[in-house]
Amino acid sequence: MKIYNTLSKKVEEFIPYSEKEVTMYTCGPTVYYYAHIGNLRTYISEDVLEKGLRYLGYNVKRCMNITDVGHLSGDSDTGEDKMAKAAQKEHKSVLDIAKFYTEAFFKDLERLNIKKPDIISPATLNIDSYIKMINKLLEEGYAYKSGGNVYFDTAKFPNYYELSGRSKDDLLLAVRDDVEEDNNKKNPFDFGLWFTNSKFQNQELKWDSPFGYGYPGWHIECSAIAIKNLGEHLDIHCGGVDNIFPHHTNEIAQSESYLNHKWCNYWVHMEFLNDKEGKMSKSKGDSKDLNSLIEKGYNPIVYRYFCLQSHYRKVLVYSLESLDSATNAYNKLKNKIKNIKNNLSGEVDYEKSKLFQDKFKDAFSNDMNTSMMLTTLYDVIKSDLNNSTKLYLIEDFDKVLSLSLLEEEKISAELESYINEKIKERAMAKENKDYAKADEIRDELLSKNIILKDTKEGTTFEIRK
Ligand code: AMP
Ligand code: ZN
Repeated sequence: MKIYNTLSKKVEEFIPYSEKEVTMYTCGPTVYYYAHIGNLRTYISEDVLEKGLRYLGYNVKRCMNITDVGHLSGDSDTGEDKMAKAAQKEHKSVLDIAKFYTEAFFKDLERLNIKKPDIISPATLNIDSYIKMINKLLEEGYAYKSGGNVYFDTAKFPNYYELSGRSKDDLLLAVRDDVEEDNNKKNPFDFGLWFTNSKFQNQELKWDSPFGYGYPGWHIECSAIAIKNLGEHLDIHCGGVDNIFPHHTNEIAQSESYLNHKWCNYWVHMEFLNDKEGKMSKSKGDSKDLNSLIEKGYNPIVYRYFCLQSHYRKVLVYSLESLDSATNAYNKLKNKIKNIKNNLSGEVDYEKSKLFQDKFKDAFSNDMNTSMMLTTLYDVIKSDLNNSTKLYLIEDFDKVLSLSLLEEEKISAELESYINEKIKERAMAKENKDYAKADEIRDELLSKNIILKDTKEGTTFEIRK
């Protein structure tokens, strides 16, 4: 298995720390709103990474945090607290907001066939672990108290620039936009480990600690949760590219200072999903969540298919047109598979299967080349293998791709209400003699594999076989 490591800036052979188990940590969502489809692209890639490793025969133990405290709108301790702001806006408590959007996130995972990580840990349930880490960092001189807060002293960690591969001046420019300078910091990169006295006097969630009544910074939560659940040596740490600096840079600084040795060997970062206007962001307020796609009649698994068509290290540009083409391709694929399933022949040829399984493994092992993995699936379908062998391989590959390749198309309640809405719209268009509009609606549904049938009793629909 070869994977690109942000730390070395190279595609490297993957060698886990222990033969027994691969440990994998992925930064979870900040649950102040629905995850947008950009966030979900990252979680899809991480899911394929975990499942692919399992497919290769590794035992994987994976952990993810849920950020329900401490994440400010600027990643460098600036701006407002994302959770507190959402609670204020929705007139709810922070924990209610967290509960609601955590459940919404789990629902998204389920709809995208993303396996839940083995361990999921909310930040608010790990205060003891942060205190333990911060205490040691203070004792050993890696952290300092200033203005009532505790900060990590980045000058004490010479490798601070390694992960981002950027110079000090370059990073100074990057944080320059975070104009609200914190005069308590010795250096602009220093970051808060614990806040008691800050601009957030109305911070709802606070805890007792040896450093005063307060709350943790964002970065400490991932280090502490990862070390607590996965041990002192981590194989893989994932996240989106925006996490490289400052979040993961800070995680490395505090974890390695705390542990006194190298912490994580492979840093795997997922590129962004952009829309035509540029970066997608939850805080921009115009984000696209999975519900908005479902409301437009798209199958969430088609979104997964769309993501797998491109490499995780390339920016992916999203548009409804590109999702339409993915819908088309996915439906054709499902129809071909249905045909195979309905015309089974011969015994499974395990020897020949192995050739295709090796190709599939090679594609995954080549820095998780998901489009090559899909090509291998198409190669199986096109091949002269008998249908039983094809079906065996399709089922096998779907353990990693998770595209519901063998599932009969079920219709969700959301899609059904969308179609009924469209049928009403079409009837109205016909009544107004706007036949072009009526045809447009029929064609749009047809592109989603939904066939309208006009009967004496009214219009009904069925899914194209
Ligand atoms: P957040 O909830 O903001 O902490 O982000 C959750 C995950 O999504 C992190 O791993 C981010 O790096 C990642 N992420 C944020 N924006 C995007 C985007 N537009 N495309 C892909 N991943 C993203
Ligand atoms: Zn994190």
